[in-house]
Amino acid sequence: MAYSYDDQNIFAKIIRGEIPNDTVAETEHSLAFNDIRPQAPVHVLVVPKGRYVCHDHFAAEASDAEVLDFMRLTARVVAEQGLADGGYRTISNAGQAGVQEVPHYHLHILGGRPLGRMLQPG
Ligand code: 5GP
Repeated sequence: MAYSYDDQNIFAKIIRGEIPNDTVAETEHSLAFNDIRPQAPVHVLVVPKGRYVCHDHFAAEASDAEVLDFMRLTARVVAEQGLADGGYRTISNAGQAGVQEVPHYHLHILGGRPLGRMLQPG
C-alpha cells in the first residue's frame, strides 16, 4: 500500500508549531493534546510526529522507537488523566468508511463519563 501524506493537514501544522494546541504531554516522537471539540470530559488526541496517514500506515511503517514511544505515551495519558480505574475508550478513524477528518494518524482517548455502546446503528 502506497500512502500519500498531506503536509498541509491541521495536525502537521500543530506538530510544526504553526498553529497552537493545548498540549497534554510530549515526547521525542509523539504529541498528546486536547481535542478542540471534546466529546467527553476527557478527549485527548495522541499523534506521532512522523508523517503517517492512519493507523495501518503507522503500524506498518513506523520505526520500533516511534511505535513504542507512541504506545507508552497513550498509557501515560490514560494514567495522568485519571482514566485507568473508571475506564475509557480509544478510537482511531481511518479513511472514508472510518470517517477520518484529519489525515494524520491520531488516537482519540475518551473518558470521564459513561461512553455508551461502541457504535450507533447505521
Ligand atoms: P477524526 O474524525 O479525523 O478521527 O478526528 C479529528 C479530530 O480532530 C476531531 O475530533 C476534531 O474535533 C479534532 N480537531 C480538528 N481540528 C482540530 C484543531 O485544530 N485542533 C485540535 N486540538 N483538534 C482538532
